[in-house]
Amino acid sequence: MSAQLVIPIELIDAFGAGVYVLTLASQAELWWHRRRRRTHFWLAASALGALVVNLTGAHLRTLAQAPSPLLVALNMLGVTIALVGLYQLAEAVGGKRPGRLAQGLQWALLLPIAVQLVTGNPATVPVLMAATALFLLAALWRSILNVLAGDRESRSLAFGLTLLFVTLLYDVLAELQILPRQEGFPVIGFTILYIAAARALSLRYERDYRELINLRGELESRVQQRTLELQEANHRLDLLSRTDTLTGLANRRCFQEAATALLQQQAACLLMIDIDHFKRINDDYGHDAGDAALRAVAHALAAELGNSELLARWGGEEFIALLSPATDGSARAERMRKAISATAIPAGNVTLRLSASFGLVELAANEALDAGITRADAALYHAKRDGRDRVVVAS
Ligand code: GH3
Ligand code: MG
Ligand code: MG
Repeated sequence: MSAQLVIPIELIDAFGAGVYVLTLASQAELWWHRRRRRTHFWLAASALGALVVNLTGAHLRTLAQAPSPLLVALNMLGVTIALVGLYQLAEAVGGKRPGRLAQGLQWALLLPIAVQLVTGNPATVPVLMAATALFLLAALWRSILNVLAGDRESRSLAFGLTLLFVTLLYDVLAELQILPRQEGFPVIGFTILYIAAARALSLRYERDYRELINLRGELESRVQQRTLELQEANHRLDLLSRTDTLTGLANRRCFQEAATALLQQQAACLLMIDIDHFKRINDDYGHDAGDAALRAVAHALAAELGNSELLARWGGEEFIALLSPATDGSARAERMRKAISATAIPAGNVTLRLSASFGLVELAANEALDAGITRADAALYHAKRDGRDRVVVAS
């Protein structure tokens, strides 16, 4: 004697209805919030169809003798929506839209339902069942293709669809009295399918989310890199805008800024330096020799300077320096003048020597730079007038 566990069909129906309502509600909610994704819509639609089948089916069982055509038509409509919904879902998961033929067939399914409703002829029921079975097979086929194409999430869906197909097939074979009757098999098939499909969709979202996070990380690091490049470029530009390209010394603008800042804190010696008869070097030995001379003078002057002192090319063959006040300005200037005189500048096969004139002014802390420059210039003019190659201190 075989012991058979029989679960009352009402219990299975109630369980199924619960799962369908849950699927319908959660997927409809997701569809609403996730920018109307088709996958959620069709899963919700399919669950609604299954719920209608469930409710009408339970009624039909109690009125087996004389079923109302409306109830049968509703039941057929539920089956259609449930299975067409699954087909649409499988296509949407694969990122596809059903072709025109499939769309046309979907609407054509309303015909046997309408005929049934109007005539009450139950002969259309098997026609509809066969047609909707095709949609279930198409859904299964599509999700198998998706799995073969490498879509991991479609695996859950393909599994659920296979199970549903088997339970429905069993139901049909039982109806034909080939297999023993097992009430509620399709309900179990549908419930497992909906759980599997919901899992497939949530896996998909998780993957989408992870991809998004990765993308964001990539974007952030790219922005960071660009920012760094921009900062470097800015730094180079800044340096360029403060540097004299020929000599590598600070330029006029840079000197004015730094000297103004320094003078706000301390007294200093301001030096204006102008190379003597520089024009002749250009005229006699060429512009390149003139450039070499400018670089050599810049080098000689820089060697005489302390760390916190400033030196810049003021323009042409003129230089400007700001010396620390602690030291004796005129002695320092004298050393600088001698350093220039001692500098040998190779120009072709000759070696040039040159001299420079210096105008010096002592500035108290907070004294204006511009006024100091005017006075140093005047002293420089005196140095030139008095025979060049000398330092004149402004009175
Ligand atoms: P003084 O002793 O009176 O200062 O006479 P000077 O010839 O040095 O003065 P002047 O101002 O007449 O001539 C300066 C020359 O410096 C004129 C200009 O061609 C040259 N010069 C200015 N900038 C550059 C430069 O970048 N490279 C070269 N090679 N020459 C320059
Ligand atoms: Mg000059
Ligand atoms: Mg000169």
